[in-house]
Amino acid sequence: MKYPKAIIDTKALKHNVEIIRKLAPNSKICAIVKANAYGHGLIDVSRTLLRQVEGVGVARIAEAERLRDAGINNDIILLEGFLGAAELFKLNELKLSTAVHCYEQVELIEKYASNLSNLKIWLKFNTGMNRLGLDKDEAREVKARLESLPCVKEISLMTHFANADDPSSDYTEKQISFFNSLNSELNLGRSTSASSGILFFPETRSEWIRPGIIMYGISPSHESIESFGFIPVMSLETVLANVFKLKAGQYLPNSQFQAQEDTYIGVLALGSSDGYPCQAPQGTPFLVNGRKVTLVGNVGVDHIYVNLGSELQDKMGDKVLVFGKGLPVEEVAKHINVITYELTTKLTMQIKHEYIIN
Ligand SMILES: *Cc1c(COP(=O)(O)O)cnc(C)c1O
Repeated sequence: MKYPKAIIDTKALKHNVEIIRKLAPNSKICAIVKANAYGHGLIDVSRTLLRQVEGVGVARIAEAERLRDAGINNDIILLEGFLGAAELFKLNELKLSTAVHCYEQVELIEKYASNLSNLKIWLKFNTGMNRLGLDKDEAREVKARLESLPCVKEISLMTHFANADDPSSDYTEKQISFFNSLNSELNLGRSTSASSGILFFPETRSEWIRPGIIMYGISPSHESIESFGFIPVMSLETVLANVFKLKAGQYLPNSQFQAQEDTYIGVLALGSSDGYPCQAPQGTPFLVNGRKVTLVGNVGVDHIYVNLGSELQDKMGDKVLVFGKGLPVEEVAKHINVITYELTTKLTMQIKHEYIIN
């Protein structure tokens, strides 16, 4: 088997969705599989969840096309909406639900209404995320305009919270009450929460929920979510490509790291070209043969150095866990000072996926 590889535990994935189901028993689940299912593999993850969730959510129409090509007939929600007439026709043909977050999209639907049918629309209301969405007056007006079109089958209301990963922030409470005040007028089906809302703001577990990162067993922040029972789905593994002795006083190539005593250095078959963050500092953890060791020197394009200690215990070909079961993504991300999403989502095509199915 080729290294590095991402081992994907599909049983853990299903288990995590079960936990979400128990947290929000009255909600329909739109499983977010954008960004190649956060690096876990769009098609395999969607197939695994096919019968367990009511819909899947993607950011781009090309992702939805791949899902349909793979024979996935679930509800697919286009979270960012369509970006022009061609995409509108395509989503109609592929029978996707779509977000509508701006007037240009409404105008396109009106213009081509006679060519469209059975549109399911998620009106995006901006409650303070300030990225996409309509304000209150616009949402009222757009709802009325869309409702009058025979091609529109269903309209729901969605929003996205800006700070829900911080349960102590009152910003989310403000967004929630703003959202509810609009919907008490519009009276639409609601879709409010992504992972952190689902975990920390139970009142946002509305008709639809949109879990992303927690399905993969990863926290939306650097705080562990193990206490909820989530299990990491991906374990990124590689091997030692070499072990050598750096003599006392010698430096690692291209770095400030100088051995204080004779030190064994492991060279990992992993680097920035695999999508590992090149800014990972000295001290970033790895597990070599189950033992925690830390990065020394700089992350190279194809190689990373770790300090294996003063005793020779390891050899070429020995297993290295980069993150996953036994070394939480949260811990590694905190060391590198990146958000947890980046570690799995930015992996490149060089990483092979191996699916454990049972
Ligand atoms: C990405 C995304 C989600 C999922 O977010 P997580 O924090 O990963 O749960 C939900 N809704 C929308 C609109 C998104 O773009």
